[in-house]
Amino acid sequence: MSAGNAWRAALFWGPRRRRAQSALAQLRGILEGELEGICGAGTWKSERVITSRQGPHIRVNGVSGGILNFCANNYLGLSSHPEVIQAGLQALEEFGAGLSSVRFICGTQSIHKNLEAKIAHFHQREDAIFYPSCFDAKAGLFEALLTLEDAVLSDELNCLHHRHHASIIDAIRLCKAHKYCYRHPDMADLEAKLQGAQKHRLRLVATDGAFSMDGDIARLQEICRFASRYGALVFVDECHATGFLGPTGRGTDEPLGVMDQVTIINSTLGKALGRASGGYTTGPGPLVSLLRQRARPYLFSNSLPPAVVGYASKALDLLMESNTIVQSMAAKIQRFRSKMEAAGFTILGASHPICPVILGDARLASRIVDDMLERGIFVIGFSYPVVPKGKAWIRVQISAVHSEEDIDRCEEAFVEVGRLHRALP
Ligand SMILES: *Cc1c(COP(=O)(O)O)cnc(C)c1O
Repeated sequence: MSAGNAWRAALFWGPRRRRAQSALAQLRGILEGELEGICGAGTWKSERVITSRQGPHIRVNGVSGGILNFCANNYLGLSSHPEVIQAGLQALEEFGAGLSSVRFICGTQSIHKNLEAKIAHFHQREDAIFYPSCFDAKAGLFEALLTLEDAVLSDELNCLHHRHHASIIDAIRLCKAHKYCYRHPDMADLEAKLQGAQKHRLRLVATDGAFSMDGDIARLQEICRFASRYGALVFVDECHATGFLGPTGRGTDEPLGVMDQVTIINSTLGKALGRASGGYTTGPGPLVSLLRQRARPYLFSNSLPPAVVGYASKALDLLMESNTIVQSMAAKIQRFRSKMEAAGFTILGASHPICPVILGDARLASRIVDDMLERGIFVIGFSYPVVPKGKAWIRVQISAVHSEEDIDRCEEAFVEVGRLHRALP
């Protein structure tokens, strides 16, 4: 470059570089302010780094010795099941690491079609479609199905208090339907809202099957009865139910006897089914066909990697062959809940592996969590705004692969720490 050109370039680029640098400095200032705000509000989330496989016994960075883990959605222990891992390896070998494509362009293999058929069969529905995650499955469904002419009626935990899952909240935000919100778990209010929504073309009642913070179960029989009386459809999010609720683990609709009345189910491969990713919608055939045409996260995001499809397929096979894992989990839940209640603790919900141990005071809950970790037991505390004000609790999640000794150790530690902090008489 000649001296003249260099001089002209400096004139041209100098102010631009300075403006770019000042924009970056401004951005840093904004971000630092935001981050300090989160710290100041006491809502900073730090991540524990696990250095082993997921399972009942884990190793955690910075903590010496093994940890007994009661903080995982690995309800059936399938994350580390040898047959499941083997099936993933086999699919990886046979079908490769991934497809580098979305489903409709060049990203569908025979195993993808087989898994969708298996999911529909498992839930006894007409068809199924899966996505990279259940978060995507919800964003895809509501926006593609519901228009300005329609209405969605959802549980207040999702629409008012925003205590529940962001994926339902965001999916409902994203669609153009009229939004109604009914009180939890107030069925008279649901009926009133259904009456008010009669003018719309479609009415979709949307609820979780099992609520993941509280461990309580939706009143699906009544929801289905009212939906049928007012000609509404029922959508149930089964992320914390698929694979383990009901005698054969089909989900909330199985023990409540409403499998033929819940119209649409969304669920995840990422909890009881043991994966880290994958979610789906199952329901009427034409709905699934429409989603393949219209659901944006399906159309514009890569297909699931073959290994993930292989694991999920094997997990469903195991569940359809036998209900021993499901029964074993149920027995462990019963053991933990009854021992804790006998010791004087209050536990929310019933018969769900999510066992919220009520403590009330947020600081007390967090001290107990720390003391439990010192005794080698990993549980997590929740306080407002995730749970109602003054109702802090510790969430314990039971898994089929906890041994009876693991359950007893957890209960004994709770009693010891609870007495120490005068949370128990
Ligand atoms: C876990 C969870 C999800 C997210 O599932 P991913 O497949 O991980 O996206 C969505 N909804 C509810 C209610 C959940 O509990």
